[in-house]
Amino acid sequence: MSVRRQMHREQQQKVLFKQAQRYAFDYADRAAERNVFPTPQALNDLKQFDEPMPAETGNAEAILQQLHEVGSPASVAQTGGRYFGFVNGGILPISLATKWLTDFWDQNTALNVMSPISAKLEEVCEDWLQQVFGLPAGTAAGFVSGTSAAILCSLAAARWRLCRNQGWDFNQQGHNGAPQLRIIAGRQTHGAVIKAIALLGLGLQHIEWVEADDQGRIIPDQLPELDSSCIVLLQAGNVNSGCFDPFEAICKRANQVGAWVHIDGAFGLWAAATEQLKYLTRGMDMAHSWSVDGHKTLNTPYDNGILLCRDREALVTALQATGDYLTSSYSETRDGMLYTPEMSRRARAIELWAALKYLGKQGVDELVLGMHKRAQQFAQELNAAGFRILNDVVFNQVIVSPSTDDQFTQAMITEVQSSGECWAGTSVWQGRKVIRISVCSWVTSEEDISRSVRAFIAARQRISDRA
Ligand SMILES: *Cc1c(COP(=O)(O)O)cnc(C)c1O
Repeated sequence: MSVRRQMHREQQQKVLFKQAQRYAFDYADRAAERNVFPTPQALNDLKQFDEPMPAETGNAEAILQQLHEVGSPASVAQTGGRYFGFVNGGILPISLATKWLTDFWDQNTALNVMSPISAKLEEVCEDWLQQVFGLPAGTAAGFVSGTSAAILCSLAAARWRLCRNQGWDFNQQGHNGAPQLRIIAGRQTHGAVIKAIALLGLGLQHIEWVEADDQGRIIPDQLPELDSSCIVLLQAGNVNSGCFDPFEAICKRANQVGAWVHIDGAFGLWAAATEQLKYLTRGMDMAHSWSVDGHKTLNTPYDNGILLCRDREALVTALQATGDYLTSSYSETRDGMLYTPEMSRRARAIELWAALKYLGKQGVDELVLGMHKRAQQFAQELNAAGFRILNDVVFNQVIVSPSTDDQFTQAMITEVQSSGECWAGTSVWQGRKVIRISVCSWVTSEEDISRSVRAFIAARQRISDRA
């Protein structure tokens, strides 16, 4: 049988999809109880994937079976509630179901005419995000792969605008002879921001670094004199401590002189959507662009980054390089590709829309506040067990220092990770190795936190028993 006929049959009979559904449900049912990180056996079994590319068409059911039996045990149990590594996030049932459904639509969202439904929901998301974050009316949203892409695009918009203000068309004239832009960034700026500066050719050695306080916040008094050539990089949610830069004072100064402020809030921007936590983001609406993820705090599927920019013209012109976008030949309605570097793109905004529509403002508030409360619980219980907490737990991040001896801290983390009970990673904080905890899944319960704290205590006990 030709591969085409075989695929037609698979499409019609749907056996494959039912098989995938069975496996998926089986995985979901066991997620909470399996090892959070794969066992050594599961990792070893990955060797089974080392094979030459098949010469002939295979059997679809066998492929799914291999993925289920060999692949899934080597996945990280992120959906189980006790994964606290990096800042990853969980997945909301409504967003997951929406992803399944819309995968069957297979939309390309470059142009409105390619997918009117996706274009419509991008427009709705743009409006809702402006409301939920309290941003200026008319703020443009681009739906990109993640915050890294959102930062890159935002800084391209900033560069275009600041150069334009000095009579320089960056798209046409480029770097050679361009006005020198100044980059102002805090010592604790995230690596994704640094990468964007380098990728855009702004030069890392030109960064004017600003000292941070003991929580990682920029110290406003340490900011250099700003002028209209400055791009100021602030953050909502330090990747270690979860702290927020003081936006109000800095944005005011920047606006007085025509500087551009970008706020990276990959996970932390969602504090602005939370009644009890929005004090952390005071003044953030005075910035010019913002980057945030749906896939972290909001728990949409991955590949859901959002860039927000109050200067629609700068954003579209920088990304499209087509001169004046208002006279472009695109349709009257919103074309998603104007706001992203890509053309072809999957309909990721539909999952974001489903999450926002399902949760509503109240649900977003409860989701984010819940993560904060459980991070506080984690810190309190660890502290009560004799572990030092090095940060003020203002959001969802906890920095744990089991010891001033880095070797002991490393032994602790290895022991915790291999317990299979929970998973957290390490980081460096003020020159010392620490354990970093991020509570960012809706699934995580109070019992998950207590159980993880017990795993920390047991790990410490095993180390001292060995000594
Ligand atoms: C995760 C993160 C990024 C990068 O976001 P991606 O979606 O992984 O590209 C940037 N900044 C901060 C503060 C982050 O936490």
